[in-house]
Formats: sequence, structure tokens, C-alpha cells
Amino acid sequence: AGPDPDLLLVSQRLSGIRHKLLILSGKGGVGKSTFTAQLAFALASSEEREVGVVDIDICGPSVPKIMGCEREEIHRSSNGWSPVYVQDNLAVMSIGFMLPDEDSAVIWRGPKKNGIIKQFLKDVDWSPTTDYLLFDTPPGTSDEHLSVVQLLRDSGITGAIILTTPQEVALQDVRKEIDFCRKARVPILGVVENMSGFVCPGCHTESRIFYPTTGGAQALCDELDIPLLGSIPLDPSIGRACDFGTSFIDSNPTSPAAHALTKIIARI
Ligand code: ADP
Repeated sequence: AGPDPDLLLVSQRLSGIRHKLLILSGKGGVGKSTFTAQLAFALASSEEREVGVVDIDICGPSVPKIMGCEREEIHRSSNGWSPVYVQDNLAVMSIGFMLPDEDSAVIWRGPKKNGIIKQFLKDVDWSPTTDYLLFDTPPGTSDEHLSVVQLLRDSGITGAIILTTPQEVALQDVRKEIDFCRKARVPILGVVENMSGFVCPGCHTESRIFYPTTGGAQALCDELDIPLLGSIPLDPSIGRACDFGTSFIDSNPTSPAAHALTKIIARI
């Protein structure tokens, strides 16, 4: 068989993009979309970087809301679909832009999901000088992950970042994500532990909220020989920034969470 025409088209679109990062999590609700959006804002705070976000969480696309572009529409040009620009150097593409209203549920089977992801990868007209393309994926490992990994085979995935909370049940699912990456030959950049603790804004004491109280993610990373990229504390200003669709680093640059995110960026 000759080369797969779809892979060729995806490759033509994306191979010039330097960093293609998959953001994964074993469970929902651990902060994967929040991290993706805030990472994108933080990377794009440097005008020299061009950043794109692809929301392939087809059943629960939340990126448009948390990146402040939920009522936007995408347009077709002779070059394909234009993503929505949140700022000059930050573009977003999401299934959310195609739903009739924000409460619509998408119930699609594998082949249709694969079809839309293929279109996202083949037809979206990203700036050819994009430096970072971040893929926000659904929790677990499902059809969407397989589609993306297969379609990006020739253009190359830089690596995966796996989000977890410190909780034992979430950590167990991290093993599955790591197993998936290893089987699919996706390099693992490392694990990010989110909601790792809570610093009381009144007394500044840090409380560990989840069990095990400390060190669970670090121990897991040591055992599986992958880097722990950082730990982001619970910070109400993160939730607030997401509700307003803005960057929390901009609104709270000296917070422990902002420092944690900055350190993670230096490691990827
Ligand atoms: P996922 O994409 O993993 O399902 P979300 O990104 O939607 O999770 O996050 C779930 C909820 O947790 C959201 O309401 C979000 O604002 C909140 N959240 C995520 N990370 C933090 C954090 N570090 N501090 C405070 N709230 C957070």
C-alpha cells in the first residue's frame, strides 16, 4: 500500500509545528483542561511564541469557555478552517464551536469521532510558524486518543504530559496512561500533580487535602522512571480565571500556583 493520504495531509499541515503536546489524564476532573488552557496562556504571554490549542474532548469540550471564546464561530477559507484567535499569537480549535448551543451534548460513536479529529488535523489552518500545539484530550484512553496518535504518526508527537491529583485512585490511573504512551510510542514528558495542596489565604498554612498526603506522585514517577514536572496547588484564583476565560498567571503572578506553572514550562 502507498502512503496514507490522510497522514500525508496531516503531516503537511503540522510537521512545521515544533512542539505537539498531548495533555492526558486517567480521570476526569483532575484539571486537565484547566492546565491546558493556562499553559497555553502562559506560553503565549511571550509575544515571540505562537500557540494553538486543539480541544478534542468531543463529549465535553470546555476549552472555549475557559479560554474566553465560547460564542465564537469558525470560518472556512480557501486554506481550510480558521481557528478562533483569543489573541494575536494564541489560536483555539474546538468541537465546541460547532455545537448549536453550549448545552448540546455530543453522543458520537468511534468512527464519527475519528472523522472529526481527522478533519481537525487535516483542515485547520494553523499559522505555519506555530511553536506549540496543545491537544486537550478526554480522560482515560479512548477512541480519541487512538485517532490522534495514529494521525500524528508521520508528523510526530513531541510528547505527553499526564495530569493527576495526589489521590491514590487517580495515581492508579496514571499507570494506564503511561502504559498507553509506551505502547503507542508517545514520549512521556512527565507528570503534573494538580491540586497538590491548599495554601490558606488568611494564615498561609498549607493543607494537604488528598490522601496520600504527600509524595504519592513523586513515588510513582520514581517507580516508573518518568519526571514529575511539578505540583500545582489548589488556588481559587485558577477557578476564577477559568470562569472569566483569562490567564491566572496574569492575574496572580506571584502565587505559588503561578510559580509552579512557570517551572513546568521551563521543563518541557
Ligand atoms: P478535567 O479537564 O480534568 O476534567 P477541569 O480542568 O475541568 O478538569 O477542572 C475541574 C475543576 O477544577 C474546574 O472547576 C477547575 O476550575 C478546577 N481546578 C482545576 N485545577 C485547579 C487548581 N489547581 N486550583 C483550583 N481549582 C482548580
